[in-house]
Amino acid sequence: MMTPEQLSQLRILIEERIVELEESIPRLEERVAPVAPDVAIGRLSRTDSMMNAGTVGLALKDARERLTRLRNRLKRIDDESFSLCGLCGKEIGLDRLLAVPDRGVCKACLQSVSRR
Ligand SMILES: [Zn+2]
Repeated sequence: MMTPEQLSQLRILIEERIVELEESIPRLEERVAPVAPDVAIGRLSRTDSMMNAGTVGLALKDARERLTRLRNRLKRIDDESFSLCGLCGKEIGLDRLLAVPDRGVCKACLQSVSRR
């Protein structure tokens, strides 16, 4: 079980992460805007900016998914099951919750999920 102090520590962390993502997502969105042909000087620089847009696109997708997960986690922070793994039901542990606040699963389960 988590103490009220630990819970408020987590709540602050999650709220900070949400604010960070809400600020960074619009910036990423600007950067994935389609590359206009006249932006490019040569063929190489156009290819280069398209590649960057692809990388930024992945970062944007990841940021949006993380934001959704963090918001859902924040909604459930007062639930008794908040600190329990959503897959195996074991206590996740404060270190883990602080390190990966957007994931409601323990380290072992997250590893087995991402291996699939
Ligand atoms: Zn688990």
